[in-house]
Amino acid sequence: MSEQTKVLVTGAGGFIGHHLVKDLADRGYWVRGVDIKEPEYEATSAHEFKLLDLVRWENCMEACEGIDEVYGLAANMGGIGFIETHKAEIVRDSTLINMHTIEAARQNNVKRYLFTSSACIYPGHLQKDTKVTPLKEEDAYPAEAEDGYGWEKLYMERVCRHYREDYGLDTRVVRFHNIFGPRGTYDGGREKSPAAICRKVALASDGDDIEVWGDGEQTRSYCYIDDCVEGIYRLMRSDHHDPINLGQDRMISINELVDIVSGIADKRIGKRYDRTKPQGVRGRNSDNTRLREVLKWEPKVSLEEGLEKTYHWIQGELQKKGAIPAVATA
Ligand code: NAD
Repeated sequence: MSEQTKVLVTGAGGFIGHHLVKDLADRGYWVRGVDIKEPEYEATSAHEFKLLDLVRWENCMEACEGIDEVYGLAANMGGIGFIETHKAEIVRDSTLINMHTIEAARQNNVKRYLFTSSACIYPGHLQKDTKVTPLKEEDAYPAEAEDGYGWEKLYMERVCRHYREDYGLDTRVVRFHNIFGPRGTYDGGREKSPAAICRKVALASDGDDIEVWGDGEQTRSYCYIDDCVEGIYRLMRSDHHDPINLGQDRMISINELVDIVSGIADKRIGKRYDRTKPQGVRGRNSDNTRLREVLKWEPKVSLEEGLEKTYHWIQGELQKKGAIPAVATA
């Protein structure tokens, strides 16, 4: 970078946005973070942090002013329990946030724009089996996205293409597959499965059962936050416009996930299944062929290593809150 590039990270008070701000600041960018809330667990590394509601057009114009590149991460979202029960709120807020932000980026002559899409755009009928075939980017069509959250993401992917083709805005579209790690939401109803399981195991005593949603045989792949941030950076520096998966391609069941976390916690934990709770698709995995080709890289952090760090962070947070006793470490 000859002159300091100015970047905007929306959703900078959230999980991935907060980590991304730190990474970009460390790489020498001037970073403006925007969110409706400050990061919950650690101060931001952004050079400037604005509390703005990006549903509103004038706030998107303020956020994009003087900016070279936008990383669009703001979204009203959460885990499966949240997205299956708040569809109108999610599509209303995220559509407004994303349409206003991309148009404000165009009007402010932003050069490059990243949209954060999701594995939830993939058709449900390709994810009906626990031993699912990994999902390739072209599997998105004919479309049958996850109702609500997934359709909004798929629609915005297309909006990015239109803005690139018609207005010359240089867009990037990344489809995340279950990103997890420290400083992600772990309670309150918006948390995702790895964080929820780490919390339940941390709160449990040796020999207890924890509640598992569904029969626990549903499968997923999980990508650690440091790999996610590295992948975003590499994609942004590439010239690849089409949507691309960013995730791990090691698939495991929720039951296996519970066993790994129990092992990290050194507790014997049983499972109590609640089949009335939403479990999402039956199986999902990322095909990383294009990721490897385009970025000459793939996620490296093992699930065990990532979960170890995540578990200990959540355990520490629960101790700070007094929800579990502080344990003396050797
Ligand atoms: P997050 O909920 O931690 O972060 C999103 C942030 O957006 C929050 O801090 C929230 O306050 C902010 N936001 C919501 N409404 C806003 C508004 N009106 N104005 C300004 N800010 C607003 O979620 P995350 O996990 O960091 O996800 C970031 C992006 O990645 C989102 O677009 C999400 O859909 C996408 N994604 C994440 C995952 C994952 O596994 N974490 C998977 C697929 C896609």
